[in-house]
Amino acid sequence: MDIAESIQDVRAWVRRVRGEGRTIGFVPTMGNLHEGHLRLIDAALAACDTAVVSIFVNPTQFGPGEDFANYPRTLPDDLAACRQRGAGLVFVPSVREMYPEQPPLTEVRVRVLEEPLCGRYRCGHFTGVCTVVAKLLNIVAPDQAFFGAKDFQQTVVIRRMVTDLNLPVEIVVCPTVRESDGLAMSSRNQYLSADERAQAVQLHAALRAAAEWIRREHPRSEAIRRMILEHLAAHAPLGAPQYVEVVNPDALAPVERTDEPVLLALAVHFGKARLIDNILVESPSAKA
Ligand code: AMP
Repeated sequence: MDIAESIQDVRAWVRRVRGEGRTIGFVPTMGNLHEGHLRLIDAALAACDTAVVSIFVNPTQFGPGEDFANYPRTLPDDLAACRQRGAGLVFVPSVREMYPEQPPLTEVRVRVLEEPLCGRYRCGHFTGVCTVVAKLLNIVAPDQAFFGAKDFQQTVVIRRMVTDLNLPVEIVVCPTVRESDGLAMSSRNQYLSADERAQAVQLHAALRAAAEWIRREHPRSEAIRRMILEHLAAHAPLGAPQYVEVVNPDALAPVERTDEPVLLALAVHFGKARLIDNILVESPSAKA
């Protein structure tokens, strides 16, 4: 496995691999790798001849007061995990390498889709994500890039960016990887106390119960939102819900009815951890 710190070295590596006629799958990450990230590497290696992983805690996607400074950085472990999983190259740029001029004057912004859900509470977050992903795609020039469904809005925004900018890459979305009790894996789970961790499992439990209710009876989405909030109040009192939404999975706009495909998405604060989760209810069955 090779490690590159400079864009120039990545481009030389990619030229060599391309010269051998091999395809490249790309997995962008912020490091502190867990099984959720590592399955993306597996998916990249299953679909492509080699995998490039980037590890970069991107400052422009963190808002003021968010956890940029404290975000867990575990590079030696991350490199060992990438090697063990069979990655071909890990790109570990500095902030200076990625943003050579301060302040950068160019941004990539996906209007409308960046606004709902997390976008409402994390001002500028998706512009930061899109800008860095556009830059990384331009540097690595992969055939396919792999993202997790856990960050559902991110996948919708990035797909649209790729379409709007005619970027020559296929976006592949992989399922959310969960702990055995259902909690979505996240680097931010380690911020949880033991009590918070025990209650955090209720995010997925509430979403699953809501999805089952939709499949059974497709109630109005307001009833679904109320049900999820009541479930959390009863079973996860340490959590402070930021939003619970029922939206169209393509447009991310709120819907009233649940007899069509819907995305249930939520964000909940537990102490200093902000956790997100979602569930896609693709084909609600007809009412009995
Ligand atoms: P991050 O390092 O948090 O920026 O995440 C990098 C990539 O890993 C993104 O595409 C995430 O959606 C994905 N990812 C993070 N956690 C999970 C998970 N539990 N299951 C699947 N993908 C994940």
